[in-house]
Amino acid sequence: SPVRKIVIAGNWKMFKTQVESQEFLKGFLPTLEDTPQDREVVLCVPFTDLNVLSKSLHGSRVQLGAQNVHWEDSGPYTGEISGPMLQEIGVRYVIVGHSERRQYFGETDETVNLRLKAAQKHGLIPILCVGETKQQRDAGETESLIISQLETDLVNIDQGNLVIAYEPIWAIGTGDTCEASEANRVIGVIRKQLKNPDVPIQYGGSVKPNNIDEIMAQPEIDGVLVGGASLEPASFARIVNYK
Ligand code: PEP
Repeated sequence: SPVRKIVIAGNWKMFKTQVESQEFLKGFLPTLEDTPQDREVVLCVPFTDLNVLSKSLHGSRVQLGAQNVHWEDSGPYTGEISGPMLQEIGVRYVIVGHSERRQYFGETDETVNLRLKAAQKHGLIPILCVGETKQQRDAGETESLIISQLETDLVNIDQGNLVIAYEPIWAIGTGDTCEASEANRVIGVIRKQLKNPDVPIQYGGSVKPNNIDEIMAQPEIDGVLVGGASLEPASFARIVNYK
């Protein structure tokens, strides 16, 4: 069977001005000299950093990512950014349906599906985030919740241009990492739901330099989506250069 692509992505959330983003690159880019070619390295940054990073990353092996995309190409949608806007400045990946978007900004599986379609229409590879709350996990609803998210999110989505991130919400930003073996198990459940078993599936939730090697040793896990630990060049470098 074909080897699945490995994708190591940083999610800067609402951190780093343009000046701070340039500082980060000064420390980070030199650490990629010996990084094995088997892995794709992505930085998903605030919209205001995209233009300058598009220039600074030119000729490097780091791919540029955004953190959201609207479903229309243009229109009266104050505060939103469209696929053509991202595509034109060299964005390659876009996070869709992050739990913070779902929790704080009212995104539903229906809007997530529309955003996924728009991303693909404009040649962007969406990183679709799914995952359960602590309450849902404790109620034994992890599998059914994720299956229901995927059922709606993936309607008419091309599974040849897609990354999925399994992000248990209780593990995000908490330091409370999901056991690597349990993340591996849930990702196996996700893979069984897919038409294309070669979709790269990441784990996300308090990934750090001290747990990355164990996570990447799991057979079902094809990469990571990293929040806090992607903000410092040294910690993200250690994650990207996992063994
Ligand atoms: C995330 O924002 O997708 C995430 C996993 O954050 P953290 O690594 O900080 O838990």
